[in-house]
Amino acid sequence: MSEAPARPVPAITPEMAPFWEAARRHELVVQRCLDCGAHRFPAREVCSGCLSRRAEWQRVGGTGHVFSIAVMHQASHPWFAARVPYAVVVIQLVEGPRMLSTVTGLAPHAIEIGMPVEVGFEDVTPEVSLPVFRPASARTAAPPTGRPR
Ligand code: ZN
Repeated sequence: MSEAPARPVPAITPEMAPFWEAARRHELVVQRCLDCGAHRFPAREVCSGCLSRRAEWQRVGGTGHVFSIAVMHQASHPWFAARVPYAVVVIQLVEGPRMLSTVTGLAPHAIEIGMPVEVGFEDVTPEVSLPVFRPASARTAAPPTGRPR
């Protein structure tokens, strides 16, 4: 009997190490420019808004909405073979950055653009906890603009 393929996990680069350290604590962090205040993800050395090199990692609320969806019908890696079709989803965080992830708890075709979501974490290995998103509960759901309803 053959061994099941191991789940592929992201490589932890030096630039993104603080993100993965926070994810292990089940906290979502993104870089924030210390000069113009813009949030950015993934980590970059230079702010695309003001060209500053000064940045910090800041915890964000973990809520946002579905920006785009792609439903995969072919396995890009043997681990995904038993999981097709699955959704690859771009999440727009309330703070602004977009993050490639997925939405759990729904069939891929039930995920809708604009759907409010909140972060959760899947502990995959001792080093990697993946941020994944689920439909937001009424308590945390907010319109994408953050304006009151
Ligand atoms: Zn900036």
